[in-house]
Amino acid sequence: MAPFVSTAVPEGRPKKIDRPPWHGSCLGQHETSPWFEESLRLAKESPRKIPIPPGHTAQSLEVALRDLAEILGQQWVKFNDVPLIDGDYHAVPLSHDSYHILDPDDLVPSAVCWPADTEDVVKTVKWANKWKVPIWPISVGRNLGYGGSAPRVRGSLVLDLGRRMDRILSVDTENAVCLIEPGVQYVTLYEHLQEIGVGNDLWVDVPDLPGGSVMGNALERGVGYTPYGDHWAHHIGLEVVTPTGEVIRTGMGSMEGSECWQLFPYGYGPHQDGIFSQSNYGIVTKMGMELLPNPGGVRVFMAAFPRREDLYQAIEIIRPLMIKKIIGNVPMFRLGLQDASLYKTRDDFELDERGIVKPDSLKKVIEELKTGEWVFYAVVYGPDEITQAKYEYVKKQLGQINGTKFYQREDVPPEHYLHNYAHYTTGIPTWRELDRMKWVPNASHMFFAPVSANSGQDAERQSNMCKKRMEEYGFNCLDTFFIGTRAMHHVISFMYNRKDAEERTRALACIRALIDDCAKLGIGEYRTHLALQDQVAKTYNWNDGAIMKFNEKIKDALDPNGILQPGRSGIWPKEYRGKGFELWGGERRSASTESEAEISFGSLA
Ligand SMILES: Cc1cc2nc3c(=O)[nH]c(=O)nc-3n(C[C@H](O)[C@H](O)[C@H](O)COP(=O)(O)OP(=O)(O)OC[C@H]3O[C@@H](n4cnc5c(N)ncnc54)[C@H](O)[C@@H]3O)c2cc1C
Repeated sequence: MAPFVSTAVPEGRPKKIDRPPWHGSCLGQHETSPWFEESLRLAKESPRKIPIPPGHTAQSLEVALRDLAEILGQQWVKFNDVPLIDGDYHAVPLSHDSYHILDPDDLVPSAVCWPADTEDVVKTVKWANKWKVPIWPISVGRNLGYGGSAPRVRGSLVLDLGRRMDRILSVDTENAVCLIEPGVQYVTLYEHLQEIGVGNDLWVDVPDLPGGSVMGNALERGVGYTPYGDHWAHHIGLEVVTPTGEVIRTGMGSMEGSECWQLFPYGYGPHQDGIFSQSNYGIVTKMGMELLPNPGGVRVFMAAFPRREDLYQAIEIIRPLMIKKIIGNVPMFRLGLQDASLYKTRDDFELDERGIVKPDSLKKVIEELKTGEWVFYAVVYGPDEITQAKYEYVKKQLGQINGTKFYQREDVPPEHYLHNYAHYTTGIPTWRELDRMKWVPNASHMFFAPVSANSGQDAERQSNMCKKRMEEYGFNCLDTFFIGTRAMHHVISFMYNRKDAEERTRALACIRALIDDCAKLGIGEYRTHLALQDQVAKTYNWNDGAIMKFNEKIKDALDPNGILQPGRSGIWPKEYRGKGFELWGGERRSASTESEAEISFGSLA
């Protein structure tokens, strides 16, 4: 086989990425897909009653939703009375959070609607203000591990923007930027670039799984693997519908006739974009996104470290390589066990009585897979001479750690993750990460994702602390550090069997304990699941929680009726504050109320 340098993907860039025939959001229509039969997993059977949002009765909600159906068209509004089918990554349900950590019937909408364009979004927002119904926009709804498509307030209306607003509005090939709508997925943007003949020159930064929305992920401040791996940092210009129904464009887009909306991010005066990420201050309907120009060569490699203690020294060595941009991407430092979970299930290991992998058993698997206690995946970009020199330099630095082994693609077997990594780092989508979802039966995961300094000390204390706490609760700590220039996303996959209520409760209690452990040391999460957002928001407590007071002032000013995503990121509108909507842990929540139990609306059509 030819060496893998220069293109890193001599196998070429596929025009299309294979996926199952059913790859989209679903509201109870899974049965129509023959493929789906295999993976159909019922969380709650039909018939279900429609959940009612706060301040409504069954009757008032029904009148309101029928009004919306008049506005958007009968076929674009549906009640959520379908069975709760968990589906899987490809067939993602709109009825509930398929990776539920609470009761599956807890965080559920009353209905879903499908706006066609910005105008429809404006109409829906005005409708929500008129009827005081909470609304929850999603782009694609694959926010799995953080709440999926589910709303925070039970009975909200979900706006599934992605179904009909999925256009790639422009690709400026000279300036390497595009303008997209919410439903554009990484995989569809990639395929579009291939189709218009620029796929080799302009790359999309893809995260682990490419079925997410480019916009939704950026709004969540998600991460990928190329130099553009900080997705929010590489958006450029927004169109936003405010909670009272005005349409604004940010940056240069706020000037009539400007040609620089996707070229210069700031415009004039205050820069508003930041308040629309991880917030409930607006519905984004268009977003500019930078595309990565092909850097003219790539060298992908893996370093494997033999001891758990090597984490400290390795991160100390990597920090200057990041700050000086010798390593050009967002590299990944991953626990050997987390790496092994791509190839093995938990039951392939010998476990202790708590279900924790025994160290000797892990050692055997590490030897079999020829990895290490920690593995480091990274890439250097540029022409061969440059990547060769950079690679030698990185090897020399990391080689100071005794026993470190280095691998390039030609050194590993075809099923090795390093080949997938070469795809990620050159913007080619892959589904490989789904292999991890076999770790336990009915696997779901939540991510516990604290921010770490790029320092051996911080990484080591976080990793050891999380391992100890998780093992105490009977969970294997599967950590990965996504390394930025000066800080890391320390992302721990919290794998649990969603069918096992006891295991779910234990997982939630454990993650709550971790949030508290971390907060005591001044460690905060970059993103969290819906059920944990109040707790995490509260840990950002400098100066008596000044930041939340500021957030609430903005919320009250922009959203006087409190209709847009109440509770997102722990920000509650004034009508909701202190009325028992927050989730702090230990609540006994019953999924449905008595009034809900009585109603069933029937069809809107
Ligand atoms: C195995 C696995 C691996 C994963 N790996 C990664 C990874 O590498 N990197 C990563 O970042 N994530 C990862 N995730 C998490 C998640 O799947 C992705 O982040 C995904 O892109 C988020 O879903 P989405 O893009 O469909 O966004 P959505 O679910 O549509 O939205 C995400 C959030 O943003 C809000 N929102 C969406 N659109 C709008 C809008 N237009 N206006 C206002 N608010 C909006 C929604 O209310 C929601 O809260 C992984 C998940 C799994 C299961």
